[in-house]
Amino acid sequence: MAPFAIGVDLGGTNLRIAAVDSNGKMLEKITTSTQVTRGRQLVILEMCNAIQQVTTKFRSSGQLAGIGVGIPGIIDMQSGLLRESPNLPGWEDYPVREEIERRLGTSVILENDANVAALGETWMGAATSVDDMCMMTLGTGVGGGIVVDGKIWNGMTGMAGELGHTPVDPNGVPCGCGSRGCVEQYASATAIKRMAVEAIATGEAPELERAMSEDPEFSAKVVYQMAIQGDEPAQKIFHTVGHSLGIVIASVINILNLPMYVIGGGVSSAWDAFSPTMFEVVRQRSFVYRNTAPGESAAGVEGTKIHDDALPVRKSTIITRALLGSDAGLIGAARLPMTRALAPV
Ligand SMILES: [Zn+2]
Repeated sequence: MAPFAIGVDLGGTNLRIAAVDSNGKMLEKITTSTQVTRGRQLVILEMCNAIQQVTTKFRSSGQLAGIGVGIPGIIDMQSGLLRESPNLPGWEDYPVREEIERRLGTSVILENDANVAALGETWMGAATSVDDMCMMTLGTGVGGGIVVDGKIWNGMTGMAGELGHTPVDPNGVPCGCGSRGCVEQYASATAIKRMAVEAIATGEAPELERAMSEDPEFSAKVVYQMAIQGDEPAQKIFHTVGHSLGIVIASVINILNLPMYVIGGGVSSAWDAFSPTMFEVVRQRSFVYRNTAPGESAAGVEGTKIHDDALPVRKSTIITRALLGSDAGLIGAARLPMTRALAPV
């Protein structure tokens, strides 16, 4: 009887729950719409009902190892309070963990959504060949997570890894966090759309203007499509994305000297539009990277996952795309109780 764990990914628009076995295989996945507007109590109730539904189904064939919940925002690990969450308005200082535990009658582990995505990629995705890594998720915002020795590095209270709020322009665009010029303002889907609107306002982006007027769903994806079709203003936006990511990754490489940096989230699909600039900037700004980059003197090819058997030859710094897509958070959330079981905090 194989043990299994429940992973929950609570987003601003979707609530997803999965049963994952100890080998990382997803046994079942349920997707519901969160409907945050209907109130936090109802969302928690729906979540608990779905957790119970999935648990009951697999309990007869294996033991429940635990429940992990990924949630957007900054979490106080000790109290289980959600301190701030831009995607879940009205949830500030809500005792999320306590509310779930009270309804389920069992303990759960609460984590930041970008942290669990990093854990998921380390367990089953792009970073399975390493124990230490850093991940950036480029979505509505920019999230970050750091994994050390196969476990999330939480910092003092659980709020570590907020890479999205690393400044790339000290006097830049004001950010929701209270700072200015954070990478989130240049490399998120929200930022890409904003930069497109700004380019249109200058009157120098006629193709973007046409696309926006024709498409009510005008989004970062449309800007990407135009960039790969050769539209210069759209390409310039992705150069900004790559440039700002390059600055942050170069700094993190210089500070932490980790073997792997993974870029995930919806915007990572635009890899071919932003990564050339990103690599160029990382090379310019990180002497640690230049000394460990894959290529002539080190194993692997820049931008791709390195083969496990090549690692002992020469250690390289790998920057690559995430592999698990939107499942990274679910798989990582399910991994939480397993990593805690191995090494209790
Ligand atoms: Zn910020």
